[in-house]
Amino acid sequence: MKNAKILMWFFLLFLLSCDKSIKSENSNNYIEPTTPLILISVDGFRWDYFDKVETPNFDRIINNGIKADGLKTVYPSKTFPNHLSIITGNYPSNHGIVSNYFYDPSFDEYYYIGAGSVAAQDGKWIQAEPIWVTVEKQLKRAMIMFWPMSDAEIQGIRPSEYYVYSDSPTNISRMEQLLNWLDLDGRNKPTFLASYFSIVDTIGHRYGPNSSEVIDSIIEVDEAIGHLLNGLEERGILNDVNLLIVSDHGMVETPIDQIINIADYIDLDSVVTIGGGPFMEIRPNDNDIENVYQQLKNIDHTQVFKKEDFPEKFNYYNNDRIEPIIFLADEGWSIQKPGRSPSPGSHGYDPDYKSMDGIFIARGPAFKENFYGPQIQSVHLYEMMCHLMEIVPAQNDGSLAETEVFLK
Ligand code: AMP
Ligand code: ZN
Ligand code: ZN
Repeated sequence: MKNAKILMWFFLLFLLSCDKSIKSENSNNYIEPTTPLILISVDGFRWDYFDKVETPNFDRIINNGIKADGLKTVYPSKTFPNHLSIITGNYPSNHGIVSNYFYDPSFDEYYYIGAGSVAAQDGKWIQAEPIWVTVEKQLKRAMIMFWPMSDAEIQGIRPSEYYVYSDSPTNISRMEQLLNWLDLDGRNKPTFLASYFSIVDTIGHRYGPNSSEVIDSIIEVDEAIGHLLNGLEERGILNDVNLLIVSDHGMVETPIDQIINIADYIDLDSVVTIGGGPFMEIRPNDNDIENVYQQLKNIDHTQVFKKEDFPEKFNYYNNDRIEPIIFLADEGWSIQKPGRSPSPGSHGYDPDYKSMDGIFIARGPAFKENFYGPQIQSVHLYEMMCHLMEIVPAQNDGSLAETEVFLK
């Protein structure tokens, strides 16, 4: 009984510690902050979700700012590769987070994500520089309440304040935290702030992109954005911050009668398979790549490639973490092992499918007003954000010229 009580206390203390920001012990030679840049990701918010329901708060951003005709994702259109491309400006083969789940032969370890993931908090996995590291290196502060890998130490650096990822804090409390950080004075004030909402993606998987539940989740996020906008307005700083809202990918319906059962084509005992659903990567145990490749050729609703022949448009090559065979499903089809079935919605397909597009909207002193611009690719945002914060970008695959059309 006594032990149970003690355990309960430890559990409560653990819960409390999860919902607290962590302050880093970086240098204290910070310089004057520049115009704050707030970056928010709404996971799985497809480019056309604005048409589903009134979004008065998103509209306050778009009408006073810019909206792109979609944010084109990088392959694979999954959460971690895309969030890392947004904040490093590199394609996944160059930033190293080639999927949500993959194997690294030199570490002999698997990478995986989710609340509590040890790998997702370990900077050894990342092979490019996230923007918060660029910011902190140039003596400005970054403060982040959730962004993939913002809770990892990278090049010995962490954001000035950050949280270990957890699903539990409410969406409103995430916005409240950003506002509280903006209340800091002088050199304690952040130049870069970021946060993240998971709800639209979670619901999109569970009920499908055309469900009424997705509409409810859009409304919930719109309200949280409203909380942020009101807080900025009350502080008299709404026009003094650059606010960017992005998403990492879209979502498409994945009906259960559109399954490709991988076991119908290859002997699963002779290979290692990684992933499933929109794509599967395959490593033959005996290294007989040609044999497996031949077995997977000419299957309806799929395409198969040897790693070295994967089309250039995917920018997905040249990293040991990519397996020798890449098996791709057509939009809405799911590659599954026996006994597995897809959830009603998914993503991870070829970024050329418009359904995989995310969003890019923004407002603030740097942005044009009431401007609708072209689709842009997410790898170009890093250069733009560095430009807005007056910092020198690290090595990346993006180009500032691609986003200049949105800027004043
Ligand atoms: P996906 O299915 O590719 O959209 O992945 C979404 C999932 O990523 C979320 O439901 C979370 O479980 C996970 N996730 C998001 N942010 C983080 C993070 N910072 N650390 C660990 N896992 C995360
Ligand atoms: Zn996602
Ligand atoms: Zn998802």
